[in-house]
Amino acid sequence: MSRAEKIAKMATTTASQAKEKSVVSRKRKKARKGVLFEAHKHCVECSIPIPLGNHSLICDDDDCRINQERKEKSRKRLSILLYVGVAIFIIPIILQLMGALT
Ligand SMILES: [Zn+2]
Repeated sequence: MSRAEKIAKMATTTASQAKEKSVVSRKRKKARKGVLFEAHKHCVECSIPIPLGNHSLICDDDDCRINQERKEKSRKRLSILLYVGVAIFIIPIILQLMGALT
């Protein structure tokens, strides 16, 4: 490769890079205006972008999956506790009302 060819190649690569950059900045500007240019969502654990077509809330990472499962379990336990607590609170009231009505 001659020197002139090298220079020409460098010029074209920088030109294409500049074009890419301008496209990116244009996209960023659009995003700032509130126009979504690429529909995507983020992993709830590590918040890396994942495609919208992916139905799970997390990425393919094992750590994220394990963390998500753990959170899900504790959330279920918490909701069960909540229902039990509400039941304990409400059942005596209902029983009293029933007793008052009869
Ligand atoms: Zn993740």
